[in-house]
Amino acid sequence: MSRDQAEYRPETRPVYTLIRKKMRNIRLRVDVPSGELRVSAPHSTPVWRIDAFVASKRDWIAKRRAEIARRPPRLEHGYEAELCRMDLDEWLDELMPAWCERFDIVPPHVSLRIMKSQWGSCRAMTRRITLNIELARRGYDLAEYVLVHELCHLFELNHGPRFYALMDHHLPDWRERRRRLGPL
Ligand SMILES: [Zn+2]
Repeated sequence: MSRDQAEYRPETRPVYTLIRKKMRNIRLRVDVPSGELRVSAPHSTPVWRIDAFVASKRDWIAKRRAEIARRPPRLEHGYEAELCRMDLDEWLDELMPAWCERFDIVPPHVSLRIMKSQWGSCRAMTRRITLNIELARRGYDLAEYVLVHELCHLFELNHGPRFYALMDHHLPDWRERRRRLGPL
């Protein structure tokens, strides 16, 4: 029995959904918000090896699940989302003119939406910024950070050195705000 096989104890390994793919390595993903474990593995990897791999990641999986459980539930369309939209609108009434004056630009078009995978986006060509309504639940200065990030994209399309130089110049504490905001 190889070492990997010796480590395989079904009762100690988290349950997972297996997806076979053309790939090199086994990959784990803890789904948000369900906490379900999804494992992708190459077609040739035997199941006992996948089981052993999953078992060896038990602590990481538990940590990810705890993080996910601590998150507030996702914002859904409805009453709370409308309240959030109103808050964000009010903040933007103040933030947008102030920042557009600072950047010396005409205010771009802004839409507020529930976004699944981003805090905001910017289409520089059409000068349209979209902000995630969820930002209203994260607070004024984190919403400000995302707004400034998207405004910087009007000048720099990519996240290159010039983009970060703009951020550093205009919002020196943006890294700290990004850390507080975390991933969506
Ligand atoms: Zn960006």
